[in-house]
Amino acid sequence: MAENYDVIVLGSGPGGYVAAIRAAQLGLKTAIVERENLGGICLNWGCIPTKALLRSAEIYHYMQHAADYGLAAEKISADIEAVVKRSRGVASQLNKGVTGLMKKNKIAVHMGDGKLTGKGKLSVTKDGNTQELSAKHIIIATGARARDLPKLKADGKRVWTYRHAMTPPEMPTKLLVIGSGAIGIEFASFYNDMGADVTVVEMMDRIVPVEDADVSAFLEKALKKQGMTIHTGAKIDKIEADDKGVRATITGKDGKAVDGEFSHVVVAIGIVPNVENIGLEDVGIEPDQRYHIKTDAYGRTNVDGFWAIGDVTAPPWLAHKASHEGVIVAEAIEQALGNGDVHPHAMDARNIPGCTYCHPQIASVGLTEAKAKEAGYEVKVGMFPFIGNGKAIALGEAEGFTKTVFDAKTGELLGAHMIGAEVTEMIQGYTIGKTLETTEAELMHTVFPHPTISESMHESVLAAYGRALHI
Ligand SMILES: Cc1cc2nc3c(=O)[nH]c(=O)nc-3n(C[C@H](O)[C@H](O)[C@H](O)COP(=O)(O)OP(=O)(O)OC[C@H]3O[C@@H](n4cnc5c(N)ncnc54)[C@H](O)[C@@H]3O)c2cc1C
Repeated sequence: MAENYDVIVLGSGPGGYVAAIRAAQLGLKTAIVERENLGGICLNWGCIPTKALLRSAEIYHYMQHAADYGLAAEKISADIEAVVKRSRGVASQLNKGVTGLMKKNKIAVHMGDGKLTGKGKLSVTKDGNTQELSAKHIIIATGARARDLPKLKADGKRVWTYRHAMTPPEMPTKLLVIGSGAIGIEFASFYNDMGADVTVVEMMDRIVPVEDADVSAFLEKALKKQGMTIHTGAKIDKIEADDKGVRATITGKDGKAVDGEFSHVVVAIGIVPNVENIGLEDVGIEPDQRYHIKTDAYGRTNVDGFWAIGDVTAPPWLAHKASHEGVIVAEAIEQALGNGDVHPHAMDARNIPGCTYCHPQIASVGLTEAKAKEAGYEVKVGMFPFIGNGKAIALGEAEGFTKTVFDAKTGELLGAHMIGAEVTEMIQGYTIGKTLETTEAELMHTVFPHPTISESMHESVLAAYGRALHI
């Protein structure tokens, strides 16, 4: 007989495990199904282990620049194996943490390959044994995986996806990174700081193309200053790899082809949703053209009783977006089961912040200046450079700026864009403001602590209205 639940969550990434916890908190009998590691990509192969790697690179960078702070650090070296070991240890600690959370919340964990087999039905297969489960509601949170180059599949030797780049067989000497989204740029930054010679190739006309154009331009300049080679508006015409390395022909925006030889390549050209072999067609769920599952703002699919969240659905493909959707869906299910005291709030994609932990870091929320204009807003824009901020100078981190975009008519904060030290920790200030539909007047009336780099957030708002104090 099938084991019966109120809710089954398929996939235990930050979307799935958070949905399961919220469902359990609401008193629903909940199960989660996972085929690999509890915590999904984020904890095991994404957000967290990359930040551990980047932290090692950051400390290495500071050690190399010790003299700038009046200190001496001699005979400095990096041991990539030890750096990776620390990162894997951090991932393992968090994986154990999720295991503990499942236990604490009395969520049944079923390890194995999950497949939808009918309305309210799901099978879990492990080592040839299949178990049937049933539930009133099923949440699909199967996430996504790295996209391969059409003609060169990553094999972990010379051609890497993020998984290989996170557990490299050796330190690359000359690294080609294809794609300059968050994942590509973070690995480019890590390996550059660790001493590799890094080349980035981006098809669009600027790096980190989803960010504000001023941020892209500033980052490109900063990374080139650090020694990276960057080709934008460029494509890879030919690429081949063997035991000795990788050879690629890169055609730049001027139409000129350049042949390059590299020790390794990281392919970071996007993700592919995990929609195959999970029984979607058997229950009538249709993915969109890019094979992501379509949902409404509460996570409902086109078939009653099936919900979807996280990377398997629409962008942005971020862990906090997946987790937030997990909470919304669990609450919407509880409401559908008849609890009128629960009021889920629909997701508003304009208020989801994005962070990239390269060096210098970037962080943003809301509309870029160009997108705001495209949307028909008349805008007021403020810019404040970190060189005008006392704390940034004291830290030796005066490279960066804060940019804010306002609706000139109403003063509503439309977007905020930051590049520089600690900006990934600061963007949440603007995110709260945006979620509360703040205006320039409220931000101007807010007192910012001194000395902090966050004062640049205040100054940027003042600058949009011609009132900046320290520039
Ligand atoms: C290198 C890298 C760095 C990143 N850094 C950040 C960052 O700094 N910040 C950020 O917000 N985001 C980051 N991301 C993105 C983030 O990891 C994802 O947005 C997030 O993990 C999506 O969560 P999810 O729950 O939708 O799916 P996932 O985390 O992908 O989890 C899905 C889970 O479902 C399981 N699964 C799939 N199919 C089945 C099946 N049939 N049966 C059983 N289990 C199944 C998978 O094994 C997986 O564990 C990064 C991603 C990568 C690759």
